[in-house]
Amino acid sequence: MAARKSAKAWNKGMTGESKPAQYRAPVVDRCPTEDCGRPAEGDAPAAGWYRTDVPASSEPARDWCSTWCSAVGRALADLRRARR
Ligand SMILES: [Zn+2]
Repeated sequence: MAARKSAKAWNKGMTGESKPAQYRAPVVDRCPTEDCGRPAEGDAPAAGWYRTDVPASSEPARDWCSTWCSAVGRALADLRRARR
């Protein structure tokens, strides 16, 4: 346990204030595209849009403006599993 002892010495036994709120900012910026992440309607997303639909998620199917946004939406849907 030498490593643990030295780690505690380094941060003075984990004492002090928590990090200020600015260090807890969202990991991903909010998309500026209007209606990005809207609930899915119809059989397919509009041209150039991407749909996520995770059956086991509490998140509904949604349409996204880009592959990046759909990847973030998919990750959120994966994390928000439906309660069983
Ligand atoms: Zn977007």
